[in-house]
Amino acid sequence: AAPLDYLLAVEALTVSFDGFKAVNDVSFYVDPDEIRVIIGPNGAGKTTVLDLICGRTRASGGSIRYKGQELTKLSESAIVQAGVGRKFQNPSIYDDLTVFENLEISFPRGRSVFGALTFKRDAEVRDRIHEIAETIFLKDQLSERAEFLSHGQKQWLEIGMLLIQDPELLMLDEPVAGMSVGERIKTAELLNQIIKGRSVLVIEHDMKFVEDIAHRVTVLHQGKVLSEGSMDRVKNDPKVIEVYLGH
Ligand code: ADP
Repeated sequence: AAPLDYLLAVEALTVSFDGFKAVNDVSFYVDPDEIRVIIGPNGAGKTTVLDLICGRTRASGGSIRYKGQELTKLSESAIVQAGVGRKFQNPSIYDDLTVFENLEISFPRGRSVFGALTFKRDAEVRDRIHEIAETIFLKDQLSERAEFLSHGQKQWLEIGMLLIQDPELLMLDEPVAGMSVGERIKTAELLNQIIKGRSVLVIEHDMKFVEDIAHRVTVLHQGKVLSEGSMDRVKNDPKVIEVYLGH
């Protein structure tokens, strides 16, 4: 299929750190409305791939096209503007603000002619905040200060802070790390709810969670794609079994 059929087309992506190829000729394609999970042992290059897509790290070679647009030359903020949202492992929420306020400050801002930040404070913003709060299971916590949320609720709030910017590609780094089983199940529900009109790219170690959410899995090993396909296919791939069992 032509590249434009994909929301994200990563081709021959490579980055070297002091001559060491942390990501080495990686290609993969993410469809619209797809949940793609990247798995692989520590040091496989998973985080670096997300860093490259969001512009935090510059590629040495290859291309990253998002909706047909080349991202490798864009700044981190231009990539956010283009519609790519990234959640890191540690929540970056404001503890002393309420859930509502955390969502409100994340609403896309315009700049006035004088350069001051302008906030939209109308019914549209409030409706959107309530809608998102419902999606992230925090509609009854809107006036609670973020510091009093559970670990899982903080992770959801941060996903909400990204959703309010309406990204078409959402990247999450180990979203269920440290969560209870109940929270993990709700997170799977949450991801399945939000993919209409967007795709999610997730790094994950929790294989139960991967089974629950992944449409397709890409396995990285030593900076390269080792295997790709449905979880069923990938977990029965002898190459994957060998890497995970450490032969
Ligand atoms: P993963 O997320 O799969 O655990 P990473 O992408 O974090 O793997 O790292 C892949 C490899 O690249 C590792 O060997 C790591 O030490 C190396 N690496 C990552 N970032 C840098 C950097 N900024 N400088 C040097 N080496 C790095």
